[in-house]
Amino acid sequence: MITVLSGGTGTPKLLQGLKEVIDPSLINIIVNTVENDYFSGVYVTPDIDTVLYTMADLINSETWYGIKDDTFITHEKLNKLGSPELLKIGDKDRALKIQKTLLMKNYSLSHVVDIQAKAMKIKSMIRPMSDDQSEINIVTHDGKMSFHQFLIEEKGHPDVLDVIYSNVGPAPGLLESIEDSEMVIIGPSNPITSIGPIIDIEGIKKILKKSYVVGISPIIGNLPVSGPAAKFMKASGLSVSAGGVCSMYSDFLDRFVIDFEDANLKKEIEKLISDVTITNTNMRNIDDKVMLARTLLGEIL
Ligand code: GDP
Repeated sequence: MITVLSGGTGTPKLLQGLKEVIDPSLINIIVNTVENDYFSGVYVTPDIDTVLYTMADLINSETWYGIKDDTFITHEKLNKLGSPELLKIGDKDRALKIQKTLLMKNYSLSHVVDIQAKAMKIKSMIRPMSDDQSEINIVTHDGKMSFHQFLIEEKGHPDVLDVIYSNVGPAPGLLESIEDSEMVIIGPSNPITSIGPIIDIEGIKKILKKSYVVGISPIIGNLPVSGPAAKFMKASGLSVSAGGVCSMYSDFLDRFVIDFEDANLKKEIEKLISDVTITNTNMRNIDDKVMLARTLLGEIL
């Protein structure tokens, strides 16, 4: 079994490649939950839903959010009724979110995600990092705001001074699932808001130190491939580079994968970790994703 630590954009692209090269039932995916919250009366688990749709081949891979070819009739009706939504939720996507909200009256998030994954005929194990509700806030010159307010209402424009999130406990079986894995892949996800909250869960770093851990840089050159990682990394005192990402993981990393474009950083990164792989990490199409998955899995295949 391999474990993949995931957010909701970069790592799901890699998951599309991984599920083509190994039996999906051997993939254990641990997903960030720090952005989970209620919107329009339904519980929204953005990264989990993206991973569910990715593994069920339903994802809208233009936005990495929601279901491909979804309609927005309810969303538009809510706008007309004078209750505009902060999140633009599609009709089919809303059904999944309504089901999750209803099931959560009786079951934990882990159990609900498992029910939904099975209903979608997903063979991989999809695990929320935690069943606890958490909060993530972005500190700007104007004070603290929620992650979604920063990203959607403010369109990621304000300067970021700090990123703060609550500590939560591991979901049941989470630590054991990492211990039982041949390899742990830290996907190319936002190091601060997607991977940070997972590795900060009590007990995880200790297990990662004992595991074989491979990381992939979400930063190519001095920029993230997409999203606000640069602002968050700067605010956390990290250089916005593959080296900056590696320094955050180096205590428990065995191998780090960087892009061809960053070949000049190899020597510097080798001071942190001896096994550095240079390859194409920019996943523009399924061939790129499969190739990166093969490079990561190497001898396991
Ligand atoms: P979020 O939950 O939507 O923020 O998504 P993630 O944290 O999973 O992913 C965001 C990160 O993925 C960004 O920092 C991007 O730089 C990175 N990313 C997106 N696509 C790619 C890609 O094709 N290659 C690499 N190396 N990183 C990527």
